[in-house]
Amino acid sequence: MQNENVDVLIIGAGPSGSVAAGYLHKQGLKVKVVEKNKFPRFVIGESLLPRCMHHFEEVGLLDSLKAKEFEIKAGARFMRDGQICNFDFSKKHTSGWNWTWQVPRADFDKTMTDALEARGVDIAFEQEVVDVNFEGSISTTTIKALDGKQSTVTAKYIIDSSGFGRVLPRLLDLDKPSEIPKHSSIFTHVKETKRPEGHEGTIITFDIVSLETWLWVIPFSNGYTSIGYVGPTAYLESFEGNTTQKLQEMMKLSNYYFDRFDGLDYAFEPKVIKNIAKSVKQMYGAGYALTGNSAEFLDPVFSSGVTFATESAITAAKLVARELNGESVDWEVEYSDYIKSGVDVFSTYVKEWYTGNLQTIFFHEKGNPEIKRQICAVLAGYVWDETNPFVKNHHRLVKTVAHIASMEQESAG
Ligand code: FAD
Repeated sequence: MQNENVDVLIIGAGPSGSVAAGYLHKQGLKVKVVEKNKFPRFVIGESLLPRCMHHFEEVGLLDSLKAKEFEIKAGARFMRDGQICNFDFSKKHTSGWNWTWQVPRADFDKTMTDALEARGVDIAFEQEVVDVNFEGSISTTTIKALDGKQSTVTAKYIIDSSGFGRVLPRLLDLDKPSEIPKHSSIFTHVKETKRPEGHEGTIITFDIVSLETWLWVIPFSNGYTSIGYVGPTAYLESFEGNTTQKLQEMMKLSNYYFDRFDGLDYAFEPKVIKNIAKSVKQMYGAGYALTGNSAEFLDPVFSSGVTFATESAITAAKLVARELNGESVDWEVEYSDYIKSGVDVFSTYVKEWYTGNLQTIFFHEKGNPEIKRQICAVLAGYVWDETNPFVKNHHRLVKTVAHIASMEQESAG
């Protein structure tokens, strides 16, 4: 069987794999990316957060992405029973990017892999990682091509960026049940023919139809819009018929959006992902690190997935480069603890979203503008900024502020 030697093998060419590859290649390391699919390929995760723009910039992918003129996302709108809560990323506690994009991921991810290949990064498409064996920290990975032919890659480090493929968590038995409630999702794209002119037509919106069930509307600059519901698994399963019929029925739950999407053909049969949240027992080990969805996924409600994917990728890539350069690295502190502290913050927000506490704060009529700026920074992905009380004291503060907001609302009548 043919064998190749590399410094770092990266599994998966999504945002996580691309950012890791971009960084490591720049350091002059021999990198190989192995990707199961041919790009462009569909993947969900279309609303980004400003924080991830730093990562694309740092690895030199930003200009190629900018050239594609994806829809600008300068904030987010949440709505519930006619109440509206708008977040504007230019009004946030933490300094940093004030905007990002709403992207069809097939196009977005391919833009990154094209740019990397143009720089000479080795990306092997339609090659699936089927097995990995470790001898100490040196790994031998078995890869299967479409024709069934197998080959191996020997690497000093593996970065597993395989997303929901979760290659190493499966092979090394690292999966752990998530603490986030069991939610599922159903979604598709539609070519819009009734898109309103101006801002209303392009703004990203989360329409809350009941405490745990919400609709996303993510307009793209190519005239298509992503629509999808998230809700408790049992509730989503209670809708009858095929996935088109289920989603059509669910669209009736949104008073605001029903007319805009009524009668439009779905670009593809709606897809369903069940029990979305994922977690792992450990995020690294001798000779490997897990990044992006392969490590952790919480819930789509605050669009944190791609940002965690790129934050973890660039952090892991920097540590791998240092270690291969002979420096000692404390993976527990510098990787696991660091990433988990951000995951923890978002985890609180996701949990408090579904208890209703965060919704109480969002839709509180007399909301405090300073609190809003602090929460806005979290929603922009700046969850490592400890100058933000809503980061530093996330466990306590969301509950406390929600409590005060409900008391104020009750006394207002
Ligand atoms: P991916 O982008 O999934 O890339 C992984 C790659 O690995 C794939 O291309 C795959 O083909 C490849 N691969 C898998 N197995 C193998 C193998 N054995 N060998 C080789 N290659 C392999 N995130 C957001 O930021 N915003 C959102 O609005 C958002 N909405 C979401 C809605 C839903 C319903 C869900 C479920 C998730 C959503 N996410 C969102 C999360 C987002 O999808 C992921 O966090 C993001 O795609 C993770 O990027 P990644 O690079 O880790 O993995």
